[in-house]
Amino acid sequence: MPAQQVVDVLLPLALPGPYSYLAPEGLDVAPGDYVRVPLGPRDTIGVVWSVGRPPRPEGEGPKLRPVREKYDAPRLKEVQRRFIEWVASYNLVPPGLVLRMCLRVPAALGDPRMRMGYRYTGAEPERMTPQRARVLDIAADGLVWRASELAEAAGVTSAVIKGLVDAGALVKEHLPADRPFQQPRIQPHIGLSREQAAAAQALRAAVAERAFSVTLLDGVTGSGKTEVYCEAIAAALAADRQVLVLLPEIALTAGFIRRLEERFGTPPAEWHSALKSTERERVWRGVADGSAKIILGARSALFLPFDRLGLIVVDEEHEAAFKQEEGVTYHARDMAVAYGSLGRFPVILSSATPSLESLVNVDRGRYRHATLSARHGAARLPTIDLIDMRTTPLERGRWMSEPLVAEVVKALNEGEQALLFLNRRGYAPLTLCRACGHRVQCPNCEAWLVEHRFRRQLICHHCGFAAPVPHVCPSCNAENTLVPCGPGIERLAEEVVDRFPDARTAILSSDLLRGAGLRQVFRDIADRRYDIVIGTQLVAKGHHFPGLTLVGVIDADLVLGGADPRAAERTYQLLSQVAGRAGRESLPGRAFIQTYMPDHPLMCALASGDRASFLEQEKKQREQAGMPPYGRLAALIISGRDQLETERFARELSLHIPEAKGGRVFGPSPAPIALVRGRYRYRFLVQAERDFNIQGFIAAWLSGIQARGSLRIDIDIDPYSFL
Ligand code: ADP
Ligand code: ZN
Repeated sequence: MPAQQVVDVLLPLALPGPYSYLAPEGLDVAPGDYVRVPLGPRDTIGVVWSVGRPPRPEGEGPKLRPVREKYDAPRLKEVQRRFIEWVASYNLVPPGLVLRMCLRVPAALGDPRMRMGYRYTGAEPERMTPQRARVLDIAADGLVWRASELAEAAGVTSAVIKGLVDAGALVKEHLPADRPFQQPRIQPHIGLSREQAAAAQALRAAVAERAFSVTLLDGVTGSGKTEVYCEAIAAALAADRQVLVLLPEIALTAGFIRRLEERFGTPPAEWHSALKSTERERVWRGVADGSAKIILGARSALFLPFDRLGLIVVDEEHEAAFKQEEGVTYHARDMAVAYGSLGRFPVILSSATPSLESLVNVDRGRYRHATLSARHGAARLPTIDLIDMRTTPLERGRWMSEPLVAEVVKALNEGEQALLFLNRRGYAPLTLCRACGHRVQCPNCEAWLVEHRFRRQLICHHCGFAAPVPHVCPSCNAENTLVPCGPGIERLAEEVVDRFPDARTAILSSDLLRGAGLRQVFRDIADRRYDIVIGTQLVAKGHHFPGLTLVGVIDADLVLGGADPRAAERTYQLLSQVAGRAGRESLPGRAFIQTYMPDHPLMCALASGDRASFLEQEKKQREQAGMPPYGRLAALIISGRDQLETERFARELSLHIPEAKGGRVFGPSPAPIALVRGRYRYRFLVQAERDFNIQGFIAAWLSGIQARGSLRIDIDIDPYSFL
């Protein structure tokens, strides 16, 4: 029996490192074990990080508290522990906060107390209330419900559930065992084109090496990238490894899941924000015990407790949505590459519009390159034409130019579908007083309120503040002088209904439709139950609508400008993706882009299909400016509730900037959005040479500095947001 020993346990908290505990005699613990340990007056779950130091002699140092219990769950593997440490040190966050992302579903650890639920006995309680009736309505399905889920579904407190138990209407029972994961069927794809087969062969070879490599799968929209990387997935499965496919949350569509299901005979395990908690636990356990083989998830799936991960595919690798901006900031694509290196397995980055970062890594010989140059089968890439808005005037209050209207008419006459794209939610981005010029602003943020006409509200897109549309100007009290300015998709929808009253119109935006309702509309579009689709970036990506032949971009210039060094690249990617929705089957596709900057290199490149020259120019500019991927960036955002205090703190910080060759610091300057959720914001930008240790520099800078009171320092390594 093992004697007492000291174990260092990493806790899911913002602490600098693991805490020491004493493992009682007879408790056999090893690194990676999940344990329950006391912390202050309470217990918390942690992971054993190292074991083996003998206890200190009696009386020396503070007395160590005991490990209370070890959970009966597969250990967190060595490679994941190294990954957690790596993510923490790269992004300058405490390792415990990274571990917290791995421990999102503590109930999955198999605590028997969490495995209980309640079933409806059929007995009516003597006293019936509306709340009780709602609970019993839901529990009438006869399933065993966890108390918290039942309470949430019925919108009642746990006291109501307890009352129903006391009244004999609900009875405690074990939750049913997890539905097992089916084993995927592995069979090679027959009928790949020659180009596809070559790319698939390269990817399979990377899997067979059982070593770290990164391959950029670079293929135009509709070229069969998914088909091709599925061959790599099949190869990893055949080698008895698990596979993680990362997608931006927005692209995790039912259609995509169905495709993987068709290919592998069983649906992948899903991991994203919309999962029910019992399903989360099932997936967590299936990933940990190795029974879940293909995991399809948003960025947080990186922190699942894999049993034997052997391949990561990052689909739409160029997407900025892989960057987590809240809490622990990290870029899931970059972390995936680091993970592959730590775990010695291949990583596939897939995109029709790869990031400049990845392309430059190909140039440098660090990544391999597999290309698909043509759409599958008879489908052709859409033609892209620019509509020069400088010479094509718009009618007042209208946003579609005559040439675009004519194209929509043509498509409708042919019985084809059109997509009108505008990346702006709501009705109008600005409400202005005609009498005094007042612009209606958010009280908590330095931002205009956006009118949402369907909801009859003015909404702040930064903090969610919402208020009814006022009848009088808040500034000069004049009546009926407030006018909407600029287009949002609700306003565009109004114009479309007015221009094409007989067309069946769908309007898609994340604030109007979600979940099952949204999935249904996507299916209906694919089944051609709509003629015109009006949408934000929600429709821009990943979807396959066979009848869609026309894409109209209402305002291509929205994202250009500002401090973001990737603005042109991102606009190029977004517009290529949107245009790529057109003509994905036998009907040829056309895209029309309304722009006031038709001479901008990216617009010229889009119109001529000359990606290479656009990229060359982008690379040259970034290299000259020392911007990523030729230089490194990090941002420090200083925020606080009091403007003066925040500014003073930022200035004080600037006095401590260390001297270092190869790196310099800009700022502090008020952030472009200087006030968010009642917090004033100042920014520093660190710009450095590529081999500069930016983390070490920032750590040295901030060492000994304490943000007190409401003040906060947020560090963003490799920032993608410059607001
Ligand atoms: P991408 O991921 O590059 O946009 P997809 O993999 O979605 O492309 O392929 C586009 C469409 O063409 C899909 O409907 C896909 O099923 C089909 N497809 C691609 N390659 C093949 C193939 N070799 N055999 C049959 N269908 C294919
Ligand atoms: Zn706000």
